[in-house]
Amino acid sequence: MNHENSRAMYERALTLMPGGVNSPVRSFSAVDRDPVFIQHGKGATVTDVDGNTYLDYVLSWGPMILGHSDPDVIRALEKALQNGTSFGAPTEAENMLASMIVDNVSSIERIRMVNSGTEAVMTALRLARAFTGRSKIVKFSGNYHGHSDGLLVEAGSGILTQGIPGSPGVPESIVENTITARYNDDEMIRQLFKEQGSEIAAVIAEPVAGNMGVVPMTMEFAQTLREVTEEHDSLLILDEVMTGFRLAFEGAQCLYNIKPDLTCYSKVIGGGLPVGAFGGRFDVMKLMAPKGPVYQAGTLSGNPLAMTAGYHTLEKLVSNPNIYQQLDRQTMKLERGLRTLIEQYDVSATVNRVGSMLSLFFTDQPVSDYESASKSDTDMYGKFFRGMLEKGIYLPSSQFESWFLSVCHDDQVIDQTIEAAESVFETMF
Ligand code: PLP
Repeated sequence: MNHENSRAMYERALTLMPGGVNSPVRSFSAVDRDPVFIQHGKGATVTDVDGNTYLDYVLSWGPMILGHSDPDVIRALEKALQNGTSFGAPTEAENMLASMIVDNVSSIERIRMVNSGTEAVMTALRLARAFTGRSKIVKFSGNYHGHSDGLLVEAGSGILTQGIPGSPGVPESIVENTITARYNDDEMIRQLFKEQGSEIAAVIAEPVAGNMGVVPMTMEFAQTLREVTEEHDSLLILDEVMTGFRLAFEGAQCLYNIKPDLTCYSKVIGGGLPVGAFGGRFDVMKLMAPKGPVYQAGTLSGNPLAMTAGYHTLEKLVSNPNIYQQLDRQTMKLERGLRTLIEQYDVSATVNRVGSMLSLFFTDQPVSDYESASKSDTDMYGKFFRGMLEKGIYLPSSQFESWFLSVCHDDQVIDQTIEAAESVFETMF
């Protein structure tokens, strides 16, 4: 594969932006390679600036559940564009996306739109602290909730990929109210609440973690979180930035049958444009400004283009509920293909999957938390990643991220991916 144009653009980017990118995992540094620059995407594929086309399992890190350039979303966006791009005033598009969510997700009584998952989580925590009058929050190792200061503690995603515990520049005084607990450890969270329950404003968790690779919560752990927070009048915040409208229309909360007090969204609800949102109980949400005292604002929050892309994406999902079965079936096919290869080539690897989120970990131990995920052989993942890229398969550039499938990942796409994985395994093992 020729990557001449990507290489030239990357060299130029390095002179302009730190590390040549605007978000760390895009740099491919964890897999020891230069990034490719993407020119366009269609369906399950992206094409780079040298004309190489790849089957895409990154999907912009999750949002593109309908595949790239979905014709209905593009048409709606083109129409909305004729009216202008942003007004900083209410528009009907906000009502449409908000009612799509409020009418269909039983835990969401009120919602507020922001511009990213980071913003959604940051404000949800501020709200939880204001509602409870408490300062401490509990998060889990390997869960990532965006890059706000108080949450960069044993976080997943790029933080885990870089192998750092947190980030310089975050004052001790800010993270001293962040308690980190072990994911899927019922005993630890019960003990924590026994000792400090009256000081804990909220527990925040990814119901299916995607930021240490895919690691699902156990059903039992999900129930425990709901129980202990209720017992101690703390709030349960589910971070469904990745899982919302991806694992089911009502997200992971319906798979686990738990009702959180607040939920955070982003990714799928923006249809590929910048959106975040948080919502939940009316008695909590009503504390938000302007009627309530908890402040949050945004020049571009709820902007009409993002609302339009999000609404038309969700509209397609809600009117075709079979989409989730189809996504599950296709991802299961990929999972089975990978498992067969792992056995056939006797590779120390394991596959975790929930719905259309999947990770291949290069470890033979089960992966159920941050500790077990961290034991994966990242050099091996790097080799696999580079091999797959050369075969035209675009995977996440870190062991500790989820692969995503879209409705365009049909049988042919899956077969081609498994064939590519086989030929890469042949060279590796
Ligand atoms: N929460 C989760 C679970 C995420 O996966 C992410 C990003 O990947 C975020 C929050 C932060 O979202 P954003 O990158 O839109 O700020």
